[in-house]
Amino acid sequence: MTGTGRRASADDAPIVAPVVWLADALDWLPGTDGRVRPAVRSPDPVLATAGADVDPAEPVIRTLAADLVATMAAAPGCVGLAAQQIGVAARVLAIDVRNHPKTRTCHRLLVLCNAEIVAASHWQKGREGCLSVPDLTGDVQRAGRLVVSGHLPGSGRAVTLTTDAFEARALQHEIDHCAGALFLDRVSGPHAIFARKVYR
Ligand SMILES: [Zn+2]
Repeated sequence: MTGTGRRASADDAPIVAPVVWLADALDWLPGTDGRVRPAVRSPDPVLATAGADVDPAEPVIRTLAADLVATMAAAPGCVGLAAQQIGVAARVLAIDVRNHPKTRTCHRLLVLCNAEIVAASHWQKGREGCLSVPDLTGDVQRAGRLVVSGHLPGSGRAVTLTTDAFEARALQHEIDHCAGALFLDRVSGPHAIFARKVYR
């Protein structure tokens, strides 16, 4: 997911996180060894493909997670990325919303495998953008409070986290990607889709 309403420039490029959520549970620091991969754009069919469950401890998944983090960090304004967006139909996602003004609860850099929504409430409409749909934004109803479970890549540790506001929105956007859905599948109609402002 990309943020909206703020200027995207090289100055906004996120920094690869020196601190990782639940670092004590990770045997590896995501982002330190990933490579930047080309972002897949709609209508590439992989974006419409539901991801397979993954074994978070497998080396190939650890590599995928690291590549997600590196690719997200290299894209200005990008606050979340799913495996489908780098061409892999798998249930792995990364988010990092720490620099977004609408963030309240924040787990910093968060990489999750097999993420599942456990509870969702406080639904509210908000504007979303997407690295895979670069020319459009849309108003999407999302839960403003969210409980999500999943596994950390590397250690494979099972985690459950509670969040809200923009981090909840970003997580739902990426969980949708992992299921083969885009934000365009969630808007209430054409009236809720907008041309993205292009800053030069
Ligand atoms: Zn997206």
